[in-house]
Amino acid sequence: MATSCLVCTGPVTQFLDLGRQPLSDAFPAPGDDLSREYFFRLALGQCSTCTMVQLLEVPPAERMFHQTYPYRSAGSAVMREHFARVAELLLDGRTDPFVVEIGSNDGTFLRTAAERGVRHLGVDPSGDAALEAAARGVRVRVDFFTEPLARHVLAEHGPADVVFSANTVSHDPNVNSILRGVAALLAPDGVFVFEDPYLGSVLANTAFDQIIDEHVLFFSARSVVGLLHRAGLELVDVERLPVHGGQIRFTAAHTGARPAAAAVDELLAEEDALGVHRMSRLREFAARTADRRRALVALLRRLRAEGARVVGYGATAKSATVANYCGLGPELVSAVIDATPAKQGRLTPGTHIPVLPPEAFGPGTADYALLFAWNHAEEIMAKERAFAEAGGRWVRYVPEVSVD
Ligand code: SAM
Repeated sequence: MATSCLVCTGPVTQFLDLGRQPLSDAFPAPGDDLSREYFFRLALGQCSTCTMVQLLEVPPAERMFHQTYPYRSAGSAVMREHFARVAELLLDGRTDPFVVEIGSNDGTFLRTAAERGVRHLGVDPSGDAALEAAARGVRVRVDFFTEPLARHVLAEHGPADVVFSANTVSHDPNVNSILRGVAALLAPDGVFVFEDPYLGSVLANTAFDQIIDEHVLFFSARSVVGLLHRAGLELVDVERLPVHGGQIRFTAAHTGARPAAAAVDELLAEEDALGVHRMSRLREFAARTADRRRALVALLRRLRAEGARVVGYGATAKSATVANYCGLGPELVSAVIDATPAKQGRLTPGTHIPVLPPEAFGPGTADYALLFAWNHAEEIMAKERAFAEAGGRWVRYVPEVSVD
């Protein structure tokens, strides 16, 4: 199947099909009419012109990001610390800056600016999350960041010295509008810093569960150079981040405004050497993904036959891809444990496994825990040490299917 690129309208060739999938953050309540659940086809392709890897079908943004969107940045202690550090890094050494965040969610990043009395504005369409941001002293405009919105912000507040965005630029099919907006809003010597999942890490770890409805684009240094160029921006630095299973912090500026760090050319060369953009490499990733499914389903069926009780840990957006792609229902995974109150008492998207709070998990409550939130493994295993000490075992599927 070929379609046209969300970035440059070039031809996109499919290399992976993860089948019919629900929205990854839409948790139905037990009494809901489940026949009304929204499904779409989760497939990935690559543009042969600009190399951008992208979803072939994108659910409408308003269905994903709305008043009651449940994800909260503050849900992870690691992410709270991460964003506090990034905020300090970006604010230090600037006199009276104006900082804008695209996808400010519950204000976890901007609270540092608010606490220091720094002029700031978050933009995010998720209204309930914005209320939590307001409770942290963070100003949020409840809307999608687009070029017209950026021009309003510019008229009202003046140019931004820093535009920051995490896990949002790669989530929006209208990415060109976001970037034109950033270019309009950014002061001549301002920086645009964005952190997003890295295609190279997804391929290296066979992290097929990074492919979800919200992850519309998978960035590489090469594809980001082209994306920024279209808006008159230039990639000036890259830094690998260990968070969320492997991300890159991209730093951009107006073209010609800042010298590019050596790390940019180094990463471009590394991507060429590893063949990150070669269709054969992408197809090889698709084949390894199918292998992981076979191995995980075989393991869970064996455990069921042995009478073991298996629960999932982390009703993450990523878990929806794994559960629906592998056909994991309550007969194989009896419950999924999650600390997010908005998900508890509900059912997992598409596969309808009950979501229970962490209090329902502990020594003796299950024989195996399937670690859906593998990107927070250290934090979770430390918190749930008693489960393993009592003989409980963790099951992983990234980078390989394994039992700890
Ligand atoms: N930045 C936070 C973080 O990294 O933890 C939240 C990430 S969450 C996955 C994505 C956020 O981006 C959601 O709060 C969503 O409402 C918001 N969002 C999606 N599209 C957006 C857009 N075009 N402009 C602003 N926010 C957007």
